[in-house]
Amino acid sequence: MKFIYCPICGKELIDRDSWDEGSVPYCPVDDIMYFDTPKPCVVVAVMKDKEILLLKQNYTFKNSKVLVSGYVTNGESVEETVHREVKEETGITVGEIKYLGSDYLASKEIIMLTFMAKYVEGEINKSSEVDWVDWGNIDDAICEMSEDEIGKRVVRKLLKEIGYKGKKAYRCDI
Ligand SMILES: [Zn+2]
Repeated sequence: MKFIYCPICGKELIDRDSWDEGSVPYCPVDDIMYFDTPKPCVVVAVMKDKEILLLKQNYTFKNSKVLVSGYVTNGESVEETVHREVKEETGITVGEIKYLGSDYLASKEIIMLTFMAKYVEGEINKSSEVDWVDWGNIDDAICEMSEDEIGKRVVRKLLKEIGYKGKKAYRCDI
């Protein structure tokens, strides 16, 4: 998002040259440059043996299961976001977090940081933000996540990471 007014004092911003970013909107009152940065968000595929943690959030995709996801809060590391979001949404504690790359979502100006993680402990205890959550067989994940393109890309990366052999998990890919 390109800033036009200062979110602190409300004054119209002026252009100022930054070292290597070119012209950047700047508030001379608060002495802040407002860089056009995306919102960081995590997407996490949680594994427990041959099962993966899937959920449904009707406000995102009504007919599709999705992975755990959430915005990085200012003040925490991205790894802390992974732990916090999985715990908040599902009640599960995870470990062995592994980064699987990023995806940019232009329509929402979100940078999706994708991860896999392993189940450590805890019983499923879903939050009120979530409509349904349960473990599902990894073989069926892609088929059940029909509308979640980014989530499906994460599952494909995870299948490579765990050395998945065979074709069953990919049967719904066209
Ligand atoms: Zn200002």
